[in-house]
Amino acid sequence: MGTDIRVHQVYAGRVLQGPGARSLVPDELERLGSERVLLVTAPSSAEVGQDLAVALGERHVATFARPVQHTPVEVTAEALVLAGEARADAIVAIGGGSAIGLSKALAIRTGMPQVAVPTTYAGSEATPVLGETENGVKTTRRDPAFAPGTVVYDPELTLSLPRGLTLTSALNALAHAVEALWDTGASAATRAYGVEAADGVLTALPTVLDRPSDVVARGRLQEAAWLAGACLAQARMGLHHQLAHALGGTFGLPHAELHALLLAHVMRFNLTAAPDAAARLARVADGDPALAIATLAARHDGPTSLGALGVPRAALREVAERVAADPYPNPRPVTADAVEELLLAAW
Ligand code: NAD
Repeated sequence: MGTDIRVHQVYAGRVLQGPGARSLVPDELERLGSERVLLVTAPSSAEVGQDLAVALGERHVATFARPVQHTPVEVTAEALVLAGEARADAIVAIGGGSAIGLSKALAIRTGMPQVAVPTTYAGSEATPVLGETENGVKTTRRDPAFAPGTVVYDPELTLSLPRGLTLTSALNALAHAVEALWDTGASAATRAYGVEAADGVLTALPTVLDRPSDVVARGRLQEAAWLAGACLAQARMGLHHQLAHALGGTFGLPHAELHALLLAHVMRFNLTAAPDAAARLARVADGDPALAIATLAARHDGPTSLGALGVPRAALREVAERVAADPYPNPRPVTADAVEELLLAAW
């Protein structure tokens, strides 16, 4: 086979989008032929879950309301018992990556179809990927069966996102898009998603930070998150995601905050070696894209450096060596010295 043949696969089959879209979830379940619905809700989505349960009436058979980050298998086992006892035949997950992760874990074990209703910008709903934790060890698997068949994006559900999570979660989405743009194996479609996602985040995020209740800007940000999630699903992630996995896994750091503070540093490192991505991002940012993202990241009221997140300076060399020993595909060669320098700048 030729080495320049690209494969583009689309995952979520149906995407509904717009203010109030959550009211169409019962119709979506009807399309699926579901009569016994299990709701998986994040703590922040309890009220939305209750409203949906009322709308579903007897078709709602159970709610599991305690999803946990990184999908621990013991939590999945607990939810599986509930799903079995209730004889559920479909899942609706309302929440961020943690609720959607649990939905994926249940779907692959039972074959139940999923409707995902995301309330953050993390993008898990658009991917065929699941990271699960067992005995403190996180393992990531990829399988088309993980991808929810229907995704419902309702920007009204993001109005309650606190300012900090709005900012860091949107930059988490932007990181998926940026890495897709410098992936030399990505398809034309993924590049298009990457540009539109980056444009959406850079345009809408400042507006949302100034006016958190602006549903139109929230909708644009959510569209960007959808396309960024599609980038994560379809392109190969490079040094940025590798560093986030290595640091997040070793030190148990908050997912979105870590992505947000690393991104501009990795861009400064990579963009000189990725002129096509650099040119596209410069057009979108109307100037230096790394500077635009650093300026946004600095608007976070919480930790904006690895040191402030609690990473010991002494650990940076070891992380750099580990990453350089087995690097993800990346436009610029990854050496321990260069990565250590990058980490020191982020520290
Ligand atoms: P999360 O789902 O863990 O949610 C973080 C917190 O925010 C929770 O307390 C939640 O209740 C609250 N929250 C969510 N939406 C809210 C809203 N609209 N208003 C107020 N509070 C709200 O956070 P996340 O960043 O969305 O997801 C992180 C998890 O998802 C990690 O486990 C990560 O590994 C995973 N993830 C997986 C993929 C994938 O493709 N498999 C992609 C991205 C993230």
